[in-house]
Amino acid sequence: MKISVTKTTTPKAIPTDDSQLGFGQIFTDHMFIVEYEAGRGWFDPRIIPYQKLSLNPASPVLHYGQEVFEGSKAYALDNGEIGLFRFKDNARRLNQSAVRTCMPELDVEFQYEALCRLLDLDRNWVPQSAGTSLYLRPTMIADGANLGAHAASRYIYFIICSPSGAYFSEGLEPVGIRIETRYARSVRGGMGGAKTGGNYAASFKAAVEASAEGYSQILWLDGKEQKYVEEVGAMNIMFVIDGKLVTADLGDTILPGITRDSILQMARAKGLTVEERRIPVTELYEAHAQGLLTEAFGTGTAAVITPVGELAWGDRKITINNYEIGPIAQMFYDELTAIQRQQNADPYGWTTTVPHYQY
Ligand SMILES: *Cc1c(COP(=O)(O)O)cnc(C)c1O
Repeated sequence: MKISVTKTTTPKAIPTDDSQLGFGQIFTDHMFIVEYEAGRGWFDPRIIPYQKLSLNPASPVLHYGQEVFEGSKAYALDNGEIGLFRFKDNARRLNQSAVRTCMPELDVEFQYEALCRLLDLDRNWVPQSAGTSLYLRPTMIADGANLGAHAASRYIYFIICSPSGAYFSEGLEPVGIRIETRYARSVRGGMGGAKTGGNYAASFKAAVEASAEGYSQILWLDGKEQKYVEEVGAMNIMFVIDGKLVTADLGDTILPGITRDSILQMARAKGLTVEERRIPVTELYEAHAQGLLTEAFGTGTAAVITPVGELAWGDRKITINNYEIGPIAQMFYDELTAIQRQQNADPYGWTTTVPHYQY
């Protein structure tokens, strides 16, 4: 499919103060969009000026939440080029999420080309300061006008880009986490393994209540027994127990994070013992009592690593590593961000560079 390009005639001012970027509030001059119709397939791929979508109020996404999305980042490299990190894995994961929600897949190489052409056009929007990046949000929604409660027959895939600030201004700051025992984010057989908006909607109430109690995130337990650790906020969770790196094994209740996978690959390459398995909360508390729980941290694209300084399970509260970032979390943060910014060798083949296209 040939991607047509309509450039904006009213370019916006590119932010000059990177310390004011924040997250997800400013968008670049252009977006990519392609449409799908049952029987016809994907059609009319185009890069257009960033603009509002026009949806019929009966559009299925608005009623039944048939939607999936991705989150990735583009980096300003020291050599002036734009770097990407494992974007094709995001594209593959979007397709997996699409299959789970009865939406059509979109060719991975095509998603990659669409993104690269969009980034080539909005090159100047990738922020330059340390720790900043251009956040990428590919999204697929059900479109059309049909209140029938079944999978739609029309879809839209689009990519928008948002310059975003350094996540932590003063180094990695540990957060306090409440272990959630009232609500569940996902259940066996549900959609927890798909990156779909409804999972986020399902999590907000617990987050609001935790925040009112002074905690910044939720530690989610399995929805059935509320015994086993699954994720933290919208991140995967890892622990260092007796020198081993321990994380929940993937199943249909846990989102297969690309940051998670990257850290596990790096850990194995370093000869660290890695365990992907069920983790009972009681084990964490016992390991802590024995002095064996030395680190806990969330992993995800937005912050890369978020150290956990405190866990609260009802009134049982424990402090981890003196509320400081631990050496293993710091090491993975430093090494992974250096690979992402192409400042270190990339033995894994994770990084690519946006080409310069001729128009
Ligand atoms: C996106 C997401 C993650 C992290 O995935 P990354 O690919 O590492 O960014 C983890 N958990 C949930 C629920 C998510 O939505």
